[in-house]
Amino acid sequence: MTAPAPECPACRAALTQAERVASICGDVFGDEYIDTFYRCARCGAYSRESFRDRFSGPSSARVERLEAQAAEALIELVRRCPSPADEDCRCEAHREYFRI
Ligand SMILES: [Zn+2]
Ligand SMILES: [Zn+2]
Repeated sequence: MTAPAPECPACRAALTQAERVASICGDVFGDEYIDTFYRCARCGAYSRESFRDRFSGPSSARVERLEAQAAEALIELVRRCPSPADEDCRCEAHREYFRI
């Protein structure tokens, strides 16, 4: 399943792959989580798209705006993972990010 292209929660510009700053996948009790961070090229706002593919029940995607400081701290955390696309990774960054 492909989620629709997210838009910036601050200015409603469509966010592109070029504005993608970081991404992390995780398996949280059988649900697949994919969080992607964007920094809008138009207004500079940070946002996080959270995709949840639930083992039981419908999947969901939402985009929330993040304060720059919070976003940078989370992006820094994601970058400490050696393999953020691996949902089975159990490094410290993964465990802290997903609280698993
Ligand atoms: Zn924007
Ligand atoms: Zn990891």
